[in-house]
Amino acid sequence: MLSAREALDIILSSVRTMPAETVDLRQTHGRVLAEQIIAAESVPPFDNSAMDGYALRSEDVGSVPRNLKIIGEVAAGKIFMGRVGPGEAVRIMTGGKIPPGADAVVQQEWTEALNEHQIKVLRPVTAGHNIRRAGEDIAEGQIVLEPGCELRAAQVGVLASLGRTSVTLYRTPKVAFLATGDELVEVGQPLEPGKIRNSNSYTLSGLLEELGAEAIDLGIARDDRTELKEKLLEGLHADALLTSGGVSVGKHDLVQNVMREIGVEIKFWKVNIKPGMPFLFGAFEDKPVFGLPGNPVSTMVTFLQFVRPALRKMMGVRNPEKSLRLRAELTEEISKRDAKRHFVRGTLETENGMLKVRPTGTQSSAVLTSLSRANCLIIIPEMTESLKKREMVEVELL
Ligand code: AMP
Ligand code: MG
Repeated sequence: MLSAREALDIILSSVRTMPAETVDLRQTHGRVLAEQIIAAESVPPFDNSAMDGYALRSEDVGSVPRNLKIIGEVAAGKIFMGRVGPGEAVRIMTGGKIPPGADAVVQQEWTEALNEHQIKVLRPVTAGHNIRRAGEDIAEGQIVLEPGCELRAAQVGVLASLGRTSVTLYRTPKVAFLATGDELVEVGQPLEPGKIRNSNSYTLSGLLEELGAEAIDLGIARDDRTELKEKLLEGLHADALLTSGGVSVGKHDLVQNVMREIGVEIKFWKVNIKPGMPFLFGAFEDKPVFGLPGNPVSTMVTFLQFVRPALRKMMGVRNPEKSLRLRAELTEEISKRDAKRHFVRGTLETENGMLKVRPTGTQSSAVLTSLSRANCLIIIPEMTESLKKREMVEVELL
C-alpha cells in the first residue's frame, strides 16, 4: 500500500497550476499572485516626519536649551515653500515633508512653546532624528513580492502603497463536491429510520472556503450507478472533483467503478494511513478527482493531507505542502497496533511555556465531535508502535 508521502507525491506531480488572470486590487484578498511585483515608485515617496514636532538643523541644538524662531508650518500632505536657516525651525506634523535645510525633527514633547514665534528646544537631536527616509520601506525598482505569494491584508496594503490598481493572479479553482450514500438525508429533512444527516458536504464546503477555492455543491447521490454517473459528469465541468463515501469495499461502494466508466483514470486507491485508508485519487484529462472515504473524520483528514496541498498547488501557492508543524509533549500514552501513519485528534495547549498535547478521547473516524474539539492532529509515524506519556510528538495545527 502507498505511504502518505508516496500518495502525496503522485498527487502533486499530476496537478497543474491554474492559468493567470488580471484582477482588480479590491478582489485580490486571499488569492495568489502570479506576477513578480517590482516597485514602480518609492515608499514613502519623500523624506517625512515620524513625529509631531519641529524640523530644524541638528547643529543648532548641539547644546541645549536653545531658542529657535518658528518660520512656518507643514502639515501632512502640504509642503513648506521656504528653507530652514540657522536658528530657525518649522512646525511639522507626522507625515509632513521635511523642508529644505532641516536635517532632523525634534518631537514636540522635547520642546517648550515660548510664544507663537519661538520655541525652546530642551534636548539635543542628531541628524536624521525622527526622519523617515524616501524609499525606506520600498525603494523604486525593488522586487517586493514574488509569484506564489498569498495575498493577505498586509500584502494587499503593500500593493496599494505602490499604486497598483490591478494585479495578475492565478485563477481560483472551481471545486465540485458530491456526497454519496443511500443513508444520507439533507439537513432540514425528516430523519427516517436508518438514515443519517449529510454532514460531509458542510465540512467540505467549509474546508474549501477556508482554502479560498470556489466550492460547487453537487448535493447527494444515491448508491445508484445512473445517479452517480450523472452527478460525477456534472462535477467534471469544474477544475477538480471531490466525492465522499462509496470508496470502501462494501456492496454499495460504487464510486470507483462509476468513475472508471466515465473515463476517470484511477491513479491509486488506498493509502497506509488511519483514518482515511480507502482514499482514492484519479484524473480526468488534467482534472484531479479525489474519492474521500465517507466517515466524517476520514473525509476531513484526507482532505487536509491530500486535497488541500493539491488545491494549493492549483492555486499557485509556492509551498503547497507547507503546514504549521510543531513539537509538543504528550500528556498521555498512545498506542497503535498497525504499521499505518496515524492522525490523532488532539488539543494543543501551553503549560508553563511548554507546548503540551492531549488526545481528544475516542478516535473513531465516525466521531466528528472529537475533531471539533481538536486544534491539531498528532502524527504517529508508520513504524512507531506506541508513544509514552511525556514523549515529544509532532503535531500539525488545524
Ligand atoms: P462509506 O465510505 O460510503 O462506506 O461511508 C462510511 C461511513 O461514513 C458510513 O457510516 C456513512 O454513513 C458515513 N457517511 C458517508 N457519507 C457521509 C456524509 N456525507 N455525511 C455523514 N456521514 C457520511
Ligand atoms: Mg456509502
